[in-house]
Amino acid sequence: MLQTIIDPQSVSQFAAWVEQYQKFVILGHTSPDGDAVGSTLALYHYLQSKGKQAQVVMPNVFPDFLKWLPGSDSVIFYRNASRSRKNVERVEQVIREAEVICCLDFNELSRIDEVGALVEQADAKILLLDHHLNPGDFADLTISFPTQSSTCELLFRFLYDLGHYEEMTVTEAACIYTGMMTDTGGFTFNSTRGEIFYIVGLLLDKGINKDVIYRKVNNSYTAARLHLQGEVLSRMTYLPKYHTAILELSKEQQERQDYHRGDSEGFVNLPLGIKDVIFTCFLREDTERDQVKLSFRSIGDFPSQEVAKRFGGGGHLNASGAERPQTTIAQVKKEFIKVLADFKEQLDEACKAEQRVSFKLSKR
Ligand code: 5GP
Ligand code: MN
Repeated sequence: MLQTIIDPQSVSQFAAWVEQYQKFVILGHTSPDGDAVGSTLALYHYLQSKGKQAQVVMPNVFPDFLKWLPGSDSVIFYRNASRSRKNVERVEQVIREAEVICCLDFNELSRIDEVGALVEQADAKILLLDHHLNPGDFADLTISFPTQSSTCELLFRFLYDLGHYEEMTVTEAACIYTGMMTDTGGFTFNSTRGEIFYIVGLLLDKGINKDVIYRKVNNSYTAARLHLQGEVLSRMTYLPKYHTAILELSKEQQERQDYHRGDSEGFVNLPLGIKDVIFTCFLREDTERDQVKLSFRSIGDFPSQEVAKRFGGGGHLNASGAERPQTTIAQVKKEFIKVLADFKEQLDEACKAEQRVSFKLSKR
């Protein structure tokens, strides 16, 4: 049996909304990842199966390797490559007309950029279902569990509690599995609770093909992406003293190499393949805004989000990020190396812990 973690009152509250209302908008965060796209689409399919009008809205486009997900054709992007006014107007309209707005995989309206203001003005019931720390106080119904591997895991529990498991389709199961897989790096971090694998078992029983999903997500790169990866790796800054590596991607590189949004997804993890590297930072000049985007990943107990906070960002223990407006990669890199000095002891400690194999094998 799956343990109940969500308050039954929250579940019946949402069930009552599904009973009462017709028009649902489902929102994921800016630069949607597998968890954001998987969870929003799974909820979309669920609501459609209940005969509801459901519309997924994203602040901007998601990477090509998620486009195979069933239903992704129906998503409206507030900002798309051509910055069409038509999309903006459609998003304004569906949010204005929504009776229920479901916010998935983000904790604050600031994580959905301009769409946040539309939600604030909307005359709709708001659901927040998320696994990030510190949920904002903007929803009528908040279901927040930072202990969850992914929003998709939490959404699975929610649908299960709604009594939907029997009727869950393989399509919904595939969307949920995708988010669980991507947010845990293929179940290599943030996934020590046995129940995660119990849920995976329940999804497999629905008929999903986990190997195909893995390949769709991980083996669908363009040659341009691999060239870019080679270039970025060849310019890596390795700081053995801090068990840290830094990767950089300039605007110029992105333009020259025919960069598509999402082409650098996952780069941040690559230096973790170096023995004794436990912390990585990926600096990317944004092509859409005048800012540098910072991504952090860590191994073990090293709190990457504490470093992210020093740059005005946040996130989880092992994955976090920040944005720095009106600056350069070189400047941010300099600041980052300075900040690392403050974390030297923690970095050493986390590296040592990683080297203690017996500890590593037993620890949750
Ligand atoms: P990524 O490196 O994939 O862009 O982000 C990893 C995680 O860091 C996200 O899931 C999110 O929790 C957090 N994150 C990324 N960028 C930001 C940011 O600018 N501000 C905050 N508060 N968190 C961020
Ligand atoms: Mn997530």
